Amino acid sequence: MNYKNVTVAGSGVLGSQIAFQTAFKGFNVSVYDINDEALDRARDRIGKLKPRYQEDLGASEEEVNSAYERISFHSDLAAAVADADLVIEAVPEVVQIKIDFYTKLGSVAPEKTIFATNSSTLLPSQFADATGRPEHFLALHFANEIWTNNTAEVMGHPGTSKEVFDDVIEFAKAIGMVALPVHKEQPGYILNSLLVPFLEAGQKLLLNGVADPETIDKTWMIATGAPKGPFAILDIVGVTTAYNIANGKGQAGMAESAKLAEMLKRDYIDKGKLGRETGEGFYKYPNPSYMEDDFLDS
Ligand code: NAD
Repeated sequence: MNYKNVTVAGSGVLGSQIAFQTAFKGFNVSVYDINDEALDRARDRIGKLKPRYQEDLGASEEEVNSAYERISFHSDLAAAVADADLVIEAVPEVVQIKIDFYTKLGSVAPEKTIFATNSSTLLPSQFADATGRPEHFLALHFANEIWTNNTAEVMGHPGTSKEVFDDVIEFAKAIGMVALPVHKEQPGYILNSLLVPFLEAGQKLLLNGVADPETIDKTWMIATGAPKGPFAILDIVGVTTAYNIANGKGQAGMAESAKLAEMLKRDYIDKGKLGRETGEGFYKYPNPSYMEDDFLDS
């Protein structure tokens, strides 16, 4: 792997984190977004990561400042990728936006450039043709708050070259991630293939009146030694995301998911209980009961 120059396309929640983490580890980073307003927001978002790196990682002011200085900002795609070894795409999770982006990217990027998508729910094979270079394209999927939640799931499509896959694994390690090879295309990669059904199972116990959130979490925590149960995790993910998943399945004809979506909306979303970020979800914050010393005792 001899990547030096990395372009991050789309500088929202994840793109700005990927850009800063990559620069923090010494790479030259160029950020691409659609216009100057989006780039101003990116500068602001990335600037706000500096104190997080200082607090969470003990980084010095000089380290975070020089990381920021390694980042350039562009609204012209050709300029953003002019010398890119790798482009990491973090544009919105909308199929047509990604297809249009890859079609344009494929026509302006140098031949050497490898493309990686950070898509959470879509598969690289959906975009391989649009890139014009399917063998040089794969998925590199990060988790939110990348600097501490440092998983990088690397997943090719059937046409991805082995050399590119191995290089991207090396790159992920070089930017401080734990690289997790996924050997076959799988919607949801490893993490969400485990987490989504687990969270859904917990919510259905609640929906069907089997037990309350605290009892469900307590059962899981005592019996497995896990630090959190499904409802504590749901509060971190956000009730809105859980609702969107249930609602999507409901609209696809799954009756129990439709009922679950209705319950989440009525009992949580409409009451402003969206999870940890709003101070209340299934638990009340900042001191949720599952973190109390005696939660597991009785
Ligand atoms: P976001 O909405 O915060 O950011 C999207 C960015 O893309 C915005 O800055 C927007 O201006 C820009 N954009 C819009 N159209 C564009 C285009 N045509 N070309 C370039 N940029 C464009 O989204 P996000 O949450 O950062 O998600 C981005 C990708 O990362 C998605 O594929 C998502 O599935 C994935 N992802 C998100 C998370 C998460 O927790 N948010 C975690 C892992 C992966």
